[in-house]
Amino acid sequence: MNILLVFAHPEPHSFNGAMLRTAVAALEAAGHQVQVSDLYAQPFDPVSDRRNFTTVQDVVYFKQQAEEVYAAGHQGFAAEVEAELQKLAWCDVMIWQFPLWWFGVPAVLKGWVDRVFAMGRAYGSGRIYETGFFRGKRALLSLTTGGPAEAYEPGGLQGDLAGILRPIHRGMLQFTGFTVLAPQVVYGPARQSGEQRAAALAAWAARLPGLAVEAPLEVGKY
Ligand SMILES: Cc1cc2nc3c(=O)[nH]c(=O)nc-3n(C[C@H](O)[C@H](O)[C@H](O)COP(=O)(O)OP(=O)(O)OC[C@H]3O[C@@H](n4cnc5c(N)ncnc54)[C@H](O)[C@@H]3O)c2cc1C
Repeated sequence: MNILLVFAHPEPHSFNGAMLRTAVAALEAAGHQVQVSDLYAQPFDPVSDRRNFTTVQDVVYFKQQAEEVYAAGHQGFAAEVEAELQKLAWCDVMIWQFPLWWFGVPAVLKGWVDRVFAMGRAYGSGRIYETGFFRGKRALLSLTTGGPAEAYEPGGLQGDLAGILRPIHRGMLQFTGFTVLAPQVVYGPARQSGEQRAAALAAWAARLPGLAVEAPLEVGKY
């Protein structure tokens, strides 16, 4: 399989960085092709506006989705957006590796979605959910939290993690056609012992070779 890893952490030596390196090593050892979008290292500019395009459909009034559709028909995406679109077209499985920040993804990753999941290339003309452009591809969130596991259970201090992740699972991944797999979550790695962190990395490495045959996650609708 072709696997795209999207990495959103500012510190390469973080636990998230260790999760990324573990994934690359395990996937390549299993014979898969891997590409990494290291958003901080590239660096990927997360601000979405006319910089997304080399073309201009309306010079007076900027409407992003209209410019996206125009750019899709005129090879008009900026090079850094087009490069990410090419990786998305190439991959069979996409994995995001990130720390949970404010119950969501770091801004650089949100900006990556804002700019790259473009109308005309990711969704549009009625092609959403089951008919989204990325139909047939699988996606998986691999994340870490600050809080412990019990805080993210239903009724816990922070609440059900499935509900926190649903806007991403449903509104970004399923919306554009991805089949969503269960998230890989390491709760509070900074609170864990070295042995626990090593076990979390080993569990991640053990899961990765089977991604093609895993049953999808039941995300649920709103
Ligand atoms: C802006 C912001 C918003 C946040 N919002 C939330 C929130 O909404 N909810 C929430 O729960 N948390 C939140 N947090 C906390 C955040 O989610 C955690 O700090 C983060 O997930 C921890 O992951 P890390 O990779 O940064 O860990 P790190 O602190 O980098 O690593 C943890 C430990 O793992 C060690 N380590 C590194 N590499 C390895 C290795 N190879 N093997 C073993 N150990 C290793 C490190 O040395 C360190 O001791 C927020 C933090 C910020 C900055």
